[in-house]
Amino acid sequence: MELDGRVSLVTGASRGIGKAIALKLAELGSRVAVNYVAIEESNKADADGVVESIARLGGEAMAVEADVRDSGAVKAMVDEVGDRWGKIDILVNNAGVNRDTLLLRMSDEAWDDVMGTNLRGAFLCTKFAVRYMMRQEWGRVISISSVVGRVGNAGQSNYAASKGGIIAFTKSVAREMGSRNVTVNAVAPGFIVTEMTDKLPPETRENMQSMIPLQRLGRPEDVAELVGFLAGDKAGYITGQVITIDGGAFP
Ligand code: NAP
Repeated sequence: MELDGRVSLVTGASRGIGKAIALKLAELGSRVAVNYVAIEESNKADADGVVESIARLGGEAMAVEADVRDSGAVKAMVDEVGDRWGKIDILVNNAGVNRDTLLLRMSDEAWDDVMGTNLRGAFLCTKFAVRYMMRQEWGRVISISSVVGRVGNAGQSNYAASKGGIIAFTKSVAREMGSRNVTVNAVAPGFIVTEMTDKLPPETRENMQSMIPLQRLGRPEDVAELVGFLAGDKAGYITGQVITIDGGAFP
C-alpha cells in the first residue's frame, strides 16, 4: 500500500475532516497518531473511537492528547509519537476553530483563540515534527487552510486571517525544507459538511450550495482523498502549493 511503513500525526482527528483523514491514511497503510484536546470528557472517547475504527480495519493507531496552542504539550505529543514508533513521516495540521462575528463586534479573545489554534497550532506542530522529517530526509506537512483564506469572508476576519496565514506559512516552510526532501503543502476546502458547518443557519448552507458548480456540499472524505494523495510518494514533486477543493466555487 502507498503509505506502508509510514507514521502520521493528524491534529484534531477526533471528528470531522481530521477523523476522515486519519481513517484514509490508515487505509493507505500508515500508522496514525490521532490527536485530540481534552476539553470535555467526550473528546477522549471520540479519539478512542477513531483508534478502534482503525484497529477494526487492521491498522494501527494511538490517541495522543495535546492542545495545539500549548508549546510544551505539542512537543510532548510529538516526542510520544517519535518514542513509540521511531519517527514521524507525515503531519496533518487539521485542528481548527471558528468564532465568527463582524470585525467591530470581535473581541480580542475571539481573535486570539482562532489565531492561537489555527495558526500558532500549525506553527508549533510543524516546528517539532519536521525535526524527525529532516533527519530522515523524507517528510510531508499538509495543513488544512480554507478558501476563505484565499478570498476572505465577511464575519470571519479572524478565521480568514488564520487560514491566509497558513498559506504564507506553507509557502515559506516549503522553501526552507525543500533541500531535505520534505514537502509542505496546504489544502483549501470550501464548504464541507461537519459539526463546524452544522452550526450555520439553513439559508447560509443553501446560499453556499447554489454557488457550487458541482451542485453539492463537500464531504470530509473528499478532503481526505486529496490529503492521502499529497502524503504519498507520487506527490513527491509538489511543494509550496495550496490546492483548493470546493466543488469549483472559487477557481
Ligand atoms: P470540527 O468538526 O469542528 O473539528 C475540529 C477539530 O479540531 C476537532 O477534532 C477538535 O477537537 C480539534 N481542535 C479544536 N481545538 C483544538 C486544539 N486547541 N487542540 C487540538 N485540537 C483541537 O471541524 P472540521 O469542519 O472537521 O474542520 C477541520 C479543519 O478543516 C479545520 O482546520 C477547519 O478550519 C478546516 N476547514 C473546514 C471547512 C468546513 O467547511 N468544515 C472548510 C474549510 C476548512 P475536539 O473534538 O477535541 O474539540
